[in-house]
Amino acid sequence: MVMTDRSTIFALSSGRPPAAIAVVRVSGPSAGAALKALIGRMPAPRKAALARVRDPQSGEVIDEALALWFPAPASETGEDVVELQLHGGQAVIAGVLDALGKIEGCRLAEPGEFTRRAFENGKLDLTRVEGLADLIAAETQAQRRQAFRQLKGLIGDRAEEWRRELIKALALIEARIDFSDEADVPENLVEPALFAAQLLRSKIAACLADSGHGERLREGLVVAIAGPPNAGKSTLLNRLAKREAAIVSSHPGTTRDVIEVHLDLDGYPLTLLDTAGIRESSDPVEQEGVRRALARAAAADLTLWVADASVIGSAIEEVGQWPANAEVWLLRNKIDLVAAGDPRTESSTMKDGINRSFAMSAQSGIGMDSLVGALSGFASSYFGATESVIVTRGRHRQAFEETIAALDRALSHRASGGEELIAEELRSAATTLGRLTGRVDVEDILDVIFRDFCIGK
Ligand code: GDP
Repeated sequence: MVMTDRSTIFALSSGRPPAAIAVVRVSGPSAGAALKALIGRMPAPRKAALARVRDPQSGEVIDEALALWFPAPASETGEDVVELQLHGGQAVIAGVLDALGKIEGCRLAEPGEFTRRAFENGKLDLTRVEGLADLIAAETQAQRRQAFRQLKGLIGDRAEEWRRELIKALALIEARIDFSDEADVPENLVEPALFAAQLLRSKIAACLADSGHGERLREGLVVAIAGPPNAGKSTLLNRLAKREAAIVSSHPGTTRDVIEVHLDLDGYPLTLLDTAGIRESSDPVEQEGVRRALARAAAADLTLWVADASVIGSAIEEVGQWPANAEVWLLRNKIDLVAAGDPRTESSTMKDGINRSFAMSAQSGIGMDSLVGALSGFASSYFGATESVIVTRGRHRQAFEETIAALDRALSHRASGGEELIAEELRSAATTLGRLTGRVDVEDILDVIFRDFCIGK
């Protein structure tokens, strides 16, 4: 691929200062010159060297640092790369970035620009770039594992292997087309090519039959907390959020009416949606918000329907009105208000549309262990199969679906024997696989993918 920008880029690649250590990276043709200007010498490649970092103009010592020199192409970006491990203070970093900015040909990097150069220099294909973005964003161990597998070429290598198989099949047909009048070209080249296409189609289809669990692992399993007002939904959410030490983040949801809490449950990501804030409204803008909030909650992977068990015949009846597509668990809350021995303390009340039932108290904590254990079991069986899943983004799914569609069109020309048409469809299938890894022209999707990165990555 052609490098369009030969400037040398630099940035703080470590987290927000102040910190013990800050890592500043430089990549590009002037990286070596920049290092020499800052520390006065060139360390041996890939060996850490202790060095004083000076402002090249004033000569003032800014800091003492570990300097690393990675000459091209054996570097992360494929270019000359310098890494400085500095003391992580605000002024140290500002001083070094400022000094770098004064060096000819050096400029501050844009978000994701180091990774983009790695992609452009063939160090990472697009699916690995996505894996890297996911690895940085991973909040739980299961997400980390999946992201790491993508970074190591889980789907990328497979797509590339399949693309090569398709090109081999295509070559057979093209040979048949180009040399059809020559006596020594066998007639039956089309059939083996279509056989290969058929085989590939079934392999790709098998990858798509994963119920979307790989994509779900990136986002988290969505659990909606629903039920009538005052049943104890917010109390439950707070207790779940508090008792799980590894609460990841708590922020207002995408619609303002849903509170969203991200939990790490035994390594699996769970997104709890509290629908308590969903209220009837006459304001059309709010109505739209309510509609979206309900749709999001109704599309959850699991609904926890909270009912006040201390009220006889309470809203347990209303579960039936919940438009759930997936499992519904009935939480018979406020069981602390029900006298021991009362039949309501039994957790066996089952109704149609309810998969499990729990007697519990969000306030006192009765029954919470068994609820959390059940949630954890649900998550682990939901995600248990993701070890073998290779599709982890909508983009992957779409590329595979387009490939299958092109293969189907190729196969549909089998009867008519239209060799040109078959070749065209096989070429189109190979192109969609090539777009997946970024081998084939992908300018339009690059910005979308690299937008997710921060500066310095
Ligand atoms: P929401 O409207 O469903 O979110 O309900 P809240 O969580 O705001 O709870 C409504 C009221 O019920 C509050 O006063 C809570 O303290 C109380 N509450 C919630 N859970 C329990 C419980 O398990 N036992 C008892 N006794 N009170 C509860």
